[in-house]
This record gives sequence, structure tokens and C-alpha cells, in this order.
Amino acid sequence: MSFRIGHGVDIHRLVPGRKLILGGVEIPWDKGLLGHSDADVVCHALSNALLGAIGEGDIGRHFPDSDPRYKDASSLELLQVVMALVKARGFRIGNADLTILAEKPKLAPYREDMQKRLAVVLQVESAAVNIKATTGEKMGFIGREEGMMAEAVVLLESVTTVLG
Ligand code: MG
Repeated sequence: MSFRIGHGVDIHRLVPGRKLILGGVEIPWDKGLLGHSDADVVCHALSNALLGAIGEGDIGRHFPDSDPRYKDASSLELLQVVMALVKARGFRIGNADLTILAEKPKLAPYREDMQKRLAVVLQVESAAVNIKATTGEKMGFIGREEGMMAEAVVLLESVTTVLG
């Protein structure tokens, strides 16, 4: 069996008048992330990690923000497109580990829901998708609630084993 690893990071600005969507889950909050799509940093970091693992660049290359097709796009759906690429390359997800950096709101109540939604798209059990959250301890752009960030690492396993 062969393995690939991938890492992804994403950052979006936090502004009033936008929905806050993280890991495909809408979270009630008075601000949301600004972007061409729904600006779901979690799905973007995860998509970047998957594309990295298969050597396919990043989501900016696959879904350019100059393309009107991706205006207000669901990033969970974009993740689905990326996952189809991963499968076409003959890989499946071993596991994914994610960290969300956000000062507020408390994300613990939404963690399980995010995990389940991402697991469906990644075609793995929920236990293979780990989501952590941390604050910026009131420092920097995270701490001042100017933006949010997410990081993801994934392990891919080849579906077919080479017979010797
Ligand atoms: Mg992004």
C-alpha cells in the first residue's frame, strides 16, 4: 500500500452581515467569513490538504475566485469535487485532522456535526475526522476577531495494492 500526506491552511476575514459556515455547518453568530464562496475556512483548508496530497496544487487553481460559477458556492460541494479527484487518483482517506483558530463563538457544540458532515463527503467514519479548536488568546488577528483560520492534515492510502 502507498501513502500520501497533505497539509492545508486557510484564512478569511470576519465581517458583519455574512453567514458563519464552518465545516459545512451554519453557526449562529453576528459575523461571518468574507469570501467569493461561502468562505468556509475548514472546508478550504481540508480541500487544500487533499489537493496537496495528490500533487494537484490548491483550491485557488481549481476554483478561481474570478470565476462567477463559484460565487457563494458551498465549500462542502467544492470539497466533494476535490474528493472525486482523490478517488480518481486511486486513493481513499486514512484520516484527517483539523484545527480551527477562532476567538469566538465557542465551537464545541458544533464539532460533532462538522465531523459527521465532513466524514460523509470524505467517505470515512466520523472517527477518522478529528476537529480541534483554539482561540488566539486575544492576540493578533484571531484574538481581535478580525478573522478565522483553519489548518488540516490528511493521510491518503492507495485503494489498490500492488501484487508482487
Ligand atoms: Mg479560502
